[in-house]
Amino acid sequence: MSGERVLVTGGTGFIGSHAIVQLLAAGYRVRTTVRNLSRADDVRALAAAGAASSGLKIPTETVEVVAADLLSDEGWADAVADCRFVLHVASPFPVDQPKDENELIIPAREGALRVLRAARDAGVARVVLTSSFAAVGYSPKTHDGDYTEADWTDPATPGITAYVKSKTLAERAAWDFIQKEGGSLELSVVNPVGVFGPAWGTDLSTSVELMRAMLSGAVPVIPPISTSIVDVRDVASLHLLAMTHPAAAGERFLAVAGPPMTFAELAELLRSHLGDLAAKLPRRGISAGMVRFLAVFIPRMRVVAAQLGQVKSASHEKATGMLGWSPRSNAEAVTSAADSLVALRLVGGTGSATP
Ligand code: NDP
Repeated sequence: MSGERVLVTGGTGFIGSHAIVQLLAAGYRVRTTVRNLSRADDVRALAAAGAASSGLKIPTETVEVVAADLLSDEGWADAVADCRFVLHVASPFPVDQPKDENELIIPAREGALRVLRAARDAGVARVVLTSSFAAVGYSPKTHDGDYTEADWTDPATPGITAYVKSKTLAERAAWDFIQKEGGSLELSVVNPVGVFGPAWGTDLSTSVELMRAMLSGAVPVIPPISTSIVDVRDVASLHLLAMTHPAAAGERFLAVAGPPMTFAELAELLRSHLGDLAAKLPRRGISAGMVRFLAVFIPRMRVVAAQLGQVKSASHEKATGMLGWSPRSNAEAVTSAADSLVALRLVGGTGSATP
């Protein structure tokens, strides 16, 4: 409803910035958190760049920016004050996995609980938590067909990464909190697969950074793995639907556009879309055996090795059927991400720019 205030945590981020722009366009007042207030102007500039590239005339200068870190209680009560809704998007999502898994688990889980506690105490109506497919589909499937919202990753599954564990434990803790201590606060959860779509700033999310790395020649071979895809604009719109739709309270929603794409298909799509600008994309594949061998020496390869042999298709029927969500295609998510990297001059030309 027009004029109501919404807090978005992590306004510097890929999904956070898209959520801010869509909320402003829908007439909400927006407040966002950053870890350091020195980034306040960056947040407004990111939203302004996004609004301009989307052809939207919206008051990005009105975004209120407050300081709060997931690792500390400080600032959260002020951040949620007078907010009707909270989109809790912030969570660490690094390219490389840390040696100590608690570097991700603690901010993800304790941060979610801090946000929920503050929201409950301030009388917020509903929190939408950005979880992940990581919390859904990283344990062996016990049924045929696609992964659905009924599936959960078991955090004790051998070989899962610290990130996968952090997202699973954070979402579990959030549902637990709501059940036991939430009072009248409602929770709704969005579980995106790999998020692509237009990036507005050079500080790239891990998903788009992977595409930049492939396009700039930093990835010499195509690994035999696949990924499901969704456009960041659709992830943001699903957050808004989950925030207001009466039926969304107490529910989780997979955000996925369509069937998974192999990395070979992704490379082919990028090559046909970008032409010469994709000259540095790898052409050669690499065997699963070689990935496993390299994973012994190269930590980043361990993340790839963990994906071998798993084609994880996921269903968007719940979000489309219950909320009327209508995601863009895989191809549009991929090509719009690539176009934004070109526009930001992060690929093309010498192709050596680093964010
Ligand atoms: P980004 O890295 O772009 O954004 C992450 C945001 O979290 C940044 O604003 C970052 O702030 C903030 N953050 C990280 N650690 C802390 C902390 N300790 N305290 C406060 N803020 C913190 O990633 P995305 O936008 O892609 O991801 C947003 C959410 O979506 C995450 O929860 C991620 O797990 C989830 N997700 C993303 C997917 C993807 O493919 N991109 C897929 C599935 C889920 P700062 O700028 O200060 O670092």
